[in-house]
Amino acid sequence: MSTATQQSSPPSPRERLALLLGRASRAIARRLGRSGGTAIPGLVAGALAPSLIERLALQPGHGVATVTGTNGKTTTTHLLAAILRAGGVDPLTNPSGSNLERGLIAAYSGSVDGRGLVPRADARAGVFEVDEAALARLMPRLRPRLAVFLNLFRDQLDRYGEVDSVAEGWARALEEVQTPPTLVLNADDPSIAQLAEHARGARVVTFGVDDDAVALTHADHASDARFCGCGSRFTYEAIYMGHVGRWHCPTCGRTRPVPDVSARRIELREDGSTVHVAIGHGAEQQTFQFELPLAGLYSAYNALAAAAAAYALGLDVVTIASALAEAGPAFGRQERFEVAGRRVRLLLAKNPAGLNEVLRVLTVAAPPLTVLAMLNDGVQDGQDVSWIYDADLEMLAGTGATIVCSGDRADDLALRFSLAGCPPVSVIPQTERALDAALARTPPGGRLDVVATYTAMMDVRSALARRAGVGAYWEASK
Ligand SMILES: [Zn+2]
Repeated sequence: MSTATQQSSPPSPRERLALLLGRASRAIARRLGRSGGTAIPGLVAGALAPSLIERLALQPGHGVATVTGTNGKTTTTHLLAAILRAGGVDPLTNPSGSNLERGLIAAYSGSVDGRGLVPRADARAGVFEVDEAALARLMPRLRPRLAVFLNLFRDQLDRYGEVDSVAEGWARALEEVQTPPTLVLNADDPSIAQLAEHARGARVVTFGVDDDAVALTHADHASDARFCGCGSRFTYEAIYMGHVGRWHCPTCGRTRPVPDVSARRIELREDGSTVHVAIGHGAEQQTFQFELPLAGLYSAYNALAAAAAAYALGLDVVTIASALAEAGPAFGRQERFEVAGRRVRLLLAKNPAGLNEVLRVLTVAAPPLTVLAMLNDGVQDGQDVSWIYDADLEMLAGTGATIVCSGDRADDLALRFSLAGCPPVSVIPQTERALDAALARTPPGGRLDVVATYTAMMDVRSALARRAGVGAYWEASK
């Protein structure tokens, strides 16, 4: 992998002090058992020295890669970091998904020495997931050499408003950033693929799926229509999820680019998939396959994105394939726990498109299906829970699934499941009691799938980790 050529200088005394105080606050936060202290050190350090992020972003010798999009940021960042590690580059990353400025500063402040410098910086690359709404602001400061754009779905209704304004912010940032980064774009999402028009001569590497066998036979509820720059509505040859598929504009001729990294065949299984990939074009084309230990088409997309980014950074297909097969799940994303003689799988679902993909994963599983579904309405979950009506919970009707509803809004979720034709067997807002009930409904040796919004996931994950005898995540991530 080639080294980025950027000038780096040591932090000023004020910046060093800010980093040290950030580290001290992290230690205190952890001692208090507060959420791993992933945000507090960054808040403290960033407030004391606002220039910190620019300074630190210049340090990794291999430069910075950003990963953004509505869904899949944490997993894609995790997989790209794993590939880089396999390729001999030490990634500096924000593994617990703290993806605003404070999270990035915290990732740095946790790895600098007393002089405020990242040790062995020449051998390192920054690999950061960045919140989709924060990217436009952070891009000129992080100055990434490579930027991955995954997808743009409607998130919880009260969060960002229109997807168009997010896409416009990205386009503006790409037009304004000093040195345009290499773009790694999802060819199948027209909102993402069109960013190539703002590459300003930088390299563009696209990834996508070319397998009709994984296409939907009907458009799902969450598919919000997308419109071309010319004003026409896109039409689709195949839809893989939401508005993501093989698209073209019937009016102006804008069309999905032929992906540089293409999944020619995806074999979806209960616990993972086999992905057959072609990279490059013509005589240069290479084909390979990898075994992904993560279920669902959405996971295959995340792996493709990581593969495309690694390919753009110059890593070889053997390293990419073996690293993807061995990477395992990211925090709270299809993590597995062994609890009370049952296998428990934790699935995060925080918006209609994401929930639909998780429901697709559940329907691939062999019966009997036992599901603990958890809905919270915290700030990070989206306080308006009506988004559950935009997801196709009807997919579980007729599967005989045993469903337990939990979370602050357990009653709303139970009503939604009932309307979908799959009423829950019990409704228990409290996490621990709901978990007990769901485990009791799961046959010994069988599997319980826990589907949860963000804060519910954090909550149930700590209960699962404790019962399974697994450490807290800040212990596991080192
Ligand atoms: Zn058009």
